[in-house]
This record gives sequence, structure tokens and C-alpha cells, in this order.
Amino acid sequence: MKLLDRSKSTDFAAALAAAGYRVAAPVSDGGLVRIKEWAPGAEIAASEMPLNSMKDFLFPRTEVIGRWTLEGDGFASQDVRPDAPKTAVLFAKPCDAAALAVLDAVFNWDCKDCFYNAKRDAAAVAVLACGSADEHCFCTSVGGSPGEAHGADLLFRPADGGLRMIVEPLTAKGKALADAAGSALSEGQAQADPIARPAERFDPGKASAWLASNFESPLWKELSLPCLGCGACAYACPACHCFDIQDEGSRSESVRCRNWDSCGFGLFTLHAGGHNPRADQSARWRQRMMHKFSYFPQRFGRLACTGCGRCARLCQAGMDIARACARISPRENA
Ligand code: SF4
Ligand code: SF4
Repeated sequence: MKLLDRSKSTDFAAALAAAGYRVAAPVSDGGLVRIKEWAPGAEIAASEMPLNSMKDFLFPRTEVIGRWTLEGDGFASQDVRPDAPKTAVLFAKPCDAAALAVLDAVFNWDCKDCFYNAKRDAAAVAVLACGSADEHCFCTSVGGSPGEAHGADLLFRPADGGLRMIVEPLTAKGKALADAAGSALSEGQAQADPIARPAERFDPGKASAWLASNFESPLWKELSLPCLGCGACAYACPACHCFDIQDEGSRSESVRCRNWDSCGFGLFTLHAGGHNPRADQSARWRQRMMHKFSYFPQRFGRLACTGCGRCARLCQAGMDIARACARISPRENA
């Protein structure tokens, strides 16, 4: 079997960079861990849960999707092509790879989004089976598992007490990663480490059923009371995908940008005439829950939450989407 010594994680990244990949990996950054473009000298924190998700590399926070320049008496549109370098995402979490199915569904629904799909096609995703679940993780409550690699091209399995990783290419893209790694990988035998599963905290089917018939429940006020509407949960979420379109520029040139947005923001649904159908934070947070556990499953047959726990980990107000789900859909044996 193919093996990667943990101490050679940066050699793996360097080999892929030398082979022409833009390499994204969890990197220590001022005391925090983020998925960033790897550069020589950067310390890879393979097992850590990064603050952000790999979504940043497929659906950037801001992206130019149109450009116009003044020519004579009119404007001429410029050809804007997706910026989609060949990319290797290393040591992603299983819950982040699982979120790719959410993004794939929404960006290929009513039209095929060329900007997303170009990046997606150019990306190979290598997942490290997760042995570092904390109290916020709940992948097992939403159909996931820390040892699975749905959506990934290559799976690393921790082995020999964490000293090594077993390298399992799952697709042609994953095989290309393993081939490009060259001498960073070795051949040998190793014993896969057991992977602990986080406890199941709620029943997603029951949550969806409760949501479908409780739009006006008084519980929404209580559940959402601490929410500040900062949007941090949506920006960190691997599955959130709302965006806004803004035109920016001068009289001689302008660009059309796609920027992340969040249903948690007060301006998200504000109409030009001043009316806001989601006038308070309770209505906005209800939308977040409804979208992930009711509307999205109805339309696409899957939840729009993979249980990564980032939203609860980051929320300065103590909001916890799994706790809310457990409140409306406790497991029988909980
Ligand atoms: S739930 Fe927390 S992170 Fe999300 S918008 Fe509200 S305060 Fe911000
Ligand atoms: S809603 Fe929260 S737990 Fe679910 S995928 Fe998004 S950030 Fe992770």
C-alpha cells in the first residue's frame, strides 16, 4: 500500500506544487489554522479543523464575472473567463468534501455556473479521515461519517498511531495526485487507526418534518434570540452558497462581481421600497434552519448541512444549530 509519513506532509505538498498544482491545505497562520494556498515554509496542520472550508477555492468570497469598458459612445463587454488553476486541496475534512455535493447541486440546478464548475473540474480533493472530532462536530447526525470520503478524490487514513497515513486514490484525479507525489510516498504496510464517531445528536428526518409544519412556531424567537446577524456562520460554512451581484467601477470601466452573502444579514431581503419580508433576526435565523433542513432537502434530496460544527465553534453569541435541531427532533434514545 502507498503510505505518507506525517513528517513528509510538506514534501507531499511541495511535490504537487512542483508538478504544477496550486496547493491548498490547512496551514498554521498566526495561531489559527486556515485552508490557504500553501507556499514553501508554511506549516501544514493536517489534522486540525480549519476556520474556513475549501469552499473558498471553488466559490471565492468575491469574483469578477463580467467586465465592461467605455468605447466611443457605448460600452463594450470584455470576455471574462473563470480563473481555474489546477488545484490540489490537501487534508480536507470529510464533512467539507461531503459539502461538495451541496455546491454541485445548486451550481448546476437552473443553469450550469461556468465559474464554479471550472474551478470544481480543476480541483482534486484529498481528505484525511478525521480523528479529531470535538463537541461541536455532528456529521453522524446528518448522514456523514468521520471515516468516509464522499466527494473526495483521495483518502488518507491515519495509521500506526498517527505516524503515517495510508493513501487511497479514489478517482483518476486522486491517482494523478498520488503519481505526482513521487518519492514523498513510500510503499509498505501500516495498521489503520480506529476512528471514533461523534454521537448522533438529533434525527434529521424528524427535524425536517417539524420544520415543514412549524413556520410560525413561537419557538423561533427563543431559538434565535442571541443571534447578532453577523454572518460568520454562513461564511465559515462549507455548504452555504448565497451570493449577491454588485457592479463596481467608474464611467470608463466597470466590473460585475459575485460576492458572498448571508440570509443572516438584515439587508439580505430588504426590498428597494423599504419593505423587508424577514424583518427581524428571528425570521432570518428561521430561514437558515429552513433552508438547510427543509427547503434544500425538498428540492435536492439532501441536507445543506454536513455537521462540521464550524458555525457553533465560531459564533460569538453561542448559537448552535445542532442544539436547535436536537431541541426540535431529539433522538429516541437520547
Ligand atoms: S448565528 Fe452566530 S455567527 Fe451566525 S449570524 Fe447569528 S451571531 Fe453571527
Ligand atoms: S450549518 Fe454549521 S455545522 Fe452545518 S455545514 Fe454549515 S457550518 Fe457546518
